[in-house]
Amino acid sequence: MRSQTYRSLGVFSAWIIIAALVALAGCGGGGQASSIAPVINDKLFTPNYISSLDNLLHWNHLPMKVSFETPTNMAELGWSSSIFTNAADEWNQPGKRALVSVVPYGEPADAVVKFVNRSVFTGGTNATGIAHISYYENSLLITAANIEVCKDDPFRGTLSANDVQFTIAHEIGHALGIHGHSENTSDLMFNTFDSGKQYSPTLRDFNTIMSAYPTYFSSSLQSVKAAPISEAQGPIRTISIE
Ligand SMILES: [Zn+2]
Repeated sequence: MRSQTYRSLGVFSAWIIIAALVALAGCGGGGQASSIAPVINDKLFTPNYISSLDNLLHWNHLPMKVSFETPTNMAELGWSSSIFTNAADEWNQPGKRALVSVVPYGEPADAVVKFVNRSVFTGGTNATGIAHISYYENSLLITAANIEVCKDDPFRGTLSANDVQFTIAHEIGHALGIHGHSENTSDLMFNTFDSGKQYSPTLRDFNTIMSAYPTYFSSSLQSVKAAPISEAQGPIRTISIE
């Protein structure tokens, strides 16, 4: 059954600047912290919606490790843990290198997904998910990502299994580096969704995030290497995006 109710996932943009000066051992005097924002090639994988984003961020490695904290009342919610892994796997294209891998909760992970009640959810009243992402603002290198999914539907009880899967997949898209939204209603990374409708990453969604990792997807021989020290310095900014 398709609801006509649209709800916001994402025009919210609380910018919290954690002006952290990161002291790096072995990093000598000043004068080296000039802007080193990568030049994104928006012609490499097309069509895409890079031009409509605030930024295209990136990790220094892939796949991004994601873990899920299992809700205590899973049966009551009518969910199963396969929903979570399916949502993550939506970002892994057949025949292409993986963007996301799921690791058990408690093991080291890049992005941790937690399920919370509406009363403690940090997103807006109509939102179902929010991602908090920290990155070096010069180099756009992500350092941490945390995702909250609200267990309570904004309009009618518990969030449905369909909608929780969509919400997780959407927030993982942000955690992978999509800072902003598509302007195309059919894309997974559009900022609102129609409850009950099924969404998966489109070609435009894939092309957009692949553009953040050109060497990873352009050649089977190259990998995303650990960030050079010049990329991992300067102030860190934390954004919250639904
Ligand atoms: Zn969003």
